[in-house]
Amino acid sequence: MTENSYTNLYDAIELAYRRESYAQEHFYFSDLGKCFRMRILKRLNIPQYPMDNRGLRVCTMGNQIEKLVINALVKAKILRKAQIPIYFGEFSGRLDAEVIAYEDTRTIECKSIHSGGFHYMLEDEPPHRHYIYQVIGYGLFRGNKFVHLLYVSRDDLCYKEYILPVEKYKQEVVKDMLKLKHYWRKKVLPPAIPYDENLCAYCPFFHSEIKTTKNKAQANLKECKALKSVKAFKDKMKKEGLESAKPKPETKN
Ligand code: SF4
Repeated sequence: MTENSYTNLYDAIELAYRRESYAQEHFYFSDLGKCFRMRILKRLNIPQYPMDNRGLRVCTMGNQIEKLVINALVKAKILRKAQIPIYFGEFSGRLDAEVIAYEDTRTIECKSIHSGGFHYMLEDEPPHRHYIYQVIGYGLFRGNKFVHLLYVSRDDLCYKEYILPVEKYKQEVVKDMLKLKHYWRKKVLPPAIPYDENLCAYCPFFHSEIKTTKNKAQANLKECKALKSVKAFKDKMKKEGLESAKPKPETKN
């Protein structure tokens, strides 16, 4: 047996998808539009439940799909730059790609989704609000007039493209950013009011074995509403034996 021996292949492969998570130093563009309470708790580095193995595999697939899209943009000779880190005051992120296929430069954000969900989408179904906010946030920072949101079906690479005018959404996205900064400055726990209650099923501060998304979301939200302070969250997570994330190590040049 070597140091890297496993009793089965499953454990070895699962381990390969694990990655270290570090304390958040900024708010993330990818969280724009989501629940204020959840974003403040994340930034305060309250311990979180780790993502389960399936979630990690889904993220890995998302990264692979993003690379496929970037490669396609390279082949089409319209990629300006890919995976651009963005730092804007209290906010940080990394936009997927910028293209030069039009008179103006445009940001492209890919969202890979389960093929079942993708093919269930209605022709005129709008994109999720937090995805709109994320890509508009990048577009604002990059000075784009238009941004593109690309929904990609994970196992057959079908895609649906939304072309969004930045001006149309600018005001509501800026309002979201300002409100978040207000809560942060005041150090108060925002109310438990998500814009979409189903998102509570994926909240990193709650865990339940309930299978259906709707029921799980309702259970999490109910528990969340009963917690009235940051301290109450801290105590709950401590009781679960969970620890705050470590600070990101300094990178040497
Ligand atoms: S359970 Fe819902 S309301 Fe509570 S912090 Fe999480 S996302 Fe927000």
